[in-house]
Amino acid sequence: MKQQPRFDIDLDKHYNPTVVIACDQCGHETRQHLDTLAPDQAAALRCDCGADISMDSTTLDKAHRLASEIKQSYRIH
Ligand SMILES: [Zn+2]
Repeated sequence: MKQQPRFDIDLDKHYNPTVVIACDQCGHETRQHLDTLAPDQAAALRCDCGADISMDSTTLDKAHRLASEIKQSYRIH
């Protein structure tokens, strides 16, 4: 089974969640708007250096869950 990339969720100033995927090979961070990231796009993601940083549907689901948790916490504060 392929190892999934490390990622973080960022909210931009419009509270749009952005997934930030760190490349294991070169350390470059690839940013994608989570709402526009279709599962087939996520499964074909590549870093600029050519490394495979694709996310499977389980990882993409995890990213969506994390994003909604972050959005909720923003509204509380
Ligand atoms: Zn890279």
